[in-house]
Amino acid sequence: MNCLNCKTTHLQSEHIAGIEIDRCPTCSGTWLDMLELEKLLGPAGDALRLRDRAVESDSPKTPDDKRHACPRCKGTYLIKLNHLAGKNVIIDSCTVCFGNWLDGGEFGKLRRRVT
Ligand SMILES: [Zn+2]
Ligand SMILES: [Zn+2]
Repeated sequence: MNCLNCKTTHLQSEHIAGIEIDRCPTCSGTWLDMLELEKLLGPAGDALRLRDRAVESDSPKTPDDKRHACPRCKGTYLIKLNHLAGKNVIIDSCTVCFGNWLDGGEFGKLRRRVT
């Protein structure tokens, strides 16, 4: 699977507390399959949050940013939505496979609002 931002960079599998995530070594964008985000917003996410902190961006995404195609479902576009966990944190989500794409730093923002 290639990074949705960098296009040519391959996402690398990482294991966080037994959950396999796909993460970009360049921009720290992260693909999470269905329910993985929910698990990582619990205690399991501490390790990921530590790694994610360094790349937190000050320019939050807006609903008008360009759409990404779902890396799992060909021909399906991710929709921008406010995650239930945090106001003003917009993530890209697939309505078919329920996967989520987080840009670098977004996980930390979401998690801060949960804990
Ligand atoms: Zn990337
Ligand atoms: Zn999908």
